[in-house]
Amino acid sequence: MSGSPVVPAYPSRVDLHTHSRRSDGVLEPRDLVAAAAVVGVRVLALADHDTLAGVRELCAPGAPELPLDLVPAVEINSVASGIEGLWEGELHILGLGVDPDSEAFEVALESQRQSRSIRFLMIVARLRDLGLPVDEGDEALRPEPGSSLGRPQIARLLVAAGHAPSVDAAMKDILARDRPAYVPRQGLGPHEAIAAIRDAGGLPVLAHFADAPARRDVVGDLISAGLGGLEVHYRHFDAETMAQMADLARALRLVPTGGSDYHGDSETYAQAHATLFVPDEDADALFASLPDGARERVRGAARTS
Ligand SMILES: [Zn+2]
Ligand SMILES: [Zn+2]
Repeated sequence: MSGSPVVPAYPSRVDLHTHSRRSDGVLEPRDLVAAAAVVGVRVLALADHDTLAGVRELCAPGAPELPLDLVPAVEINSVASGIEGLWEGELHILGLGVDPDSEAFEVALESQRQSRSIRFLMIVARLRDLGLPVDEGDEALRPEPGSSLGRPQIARLLVAAGHAPSVDAAMKDILARDRPAYVPRQGLGPHEAIAAIRDAGGLPVLAHFADAPARRDVVGDLISAGLGGLEVHYRHFDAETMAQMADLARALRLVPTGGSDYHGDSETYAQAHATLFVPDEDADALFASLPDGARERVRGAARTS
């Protein structure tokens, strides 16, 4: 984004979009929670790609009490093959408040994770053919059961092998669509992702789609499929985009949400948080929109204190 930067009106107490090591983030779930709590976040959604493993660990019986409210969440990078002009042909759908105990949802996520593993290994093989080999003995290629693989983990291996100066550069120059090591994603389409999230008791939210104001056709189609929210207060939006997104959410009666999309490659959580502005009202609107069961799934101290 190249417009005016967003100036946070106060330090955000809400972050509804983060990633941990259970997908392509760098922090352990518990360390992410601690880092968010220490800078004042009271409501945090852990939205790993295609997995609730981190959420389950944090909420397991006997796990230490959480210092904040944790919203169980996922991010599904849906394959929107029928829609022209999308970045990498994908629409990213957050599922906020989904039930970590839903067996049907877990089956769908496991299938997504298998597609990710196959794609990951195809990219590693492609890199070998291109003369850009990565360390195939690295533990990143053998994730724990329930964790999911993605291109940022390959980007880190490319940096470690000296083939790219940074994760961002590896993504942009080697792994992105139209770059030599790109392998298309397989998996759920946007309507399927939305239906799966609804069936699991969550709110489906369209993530970081800056083109939304110009692509009301796309957003309208997703609403007809059950979309319930729009990520308005996204950390990488400029002020103008954020204002347009807020107007659109209001006009289309979508719940506005916001978050950092923190992965942790180039900054600490505190550094990311310093440029994040998610109004408290986003959490209130989310809680108001969730079905009763989903509200009860939000674990932690803040809601009960
Ligand atoms: Zn995304
Ligand atoms: Zn994300």
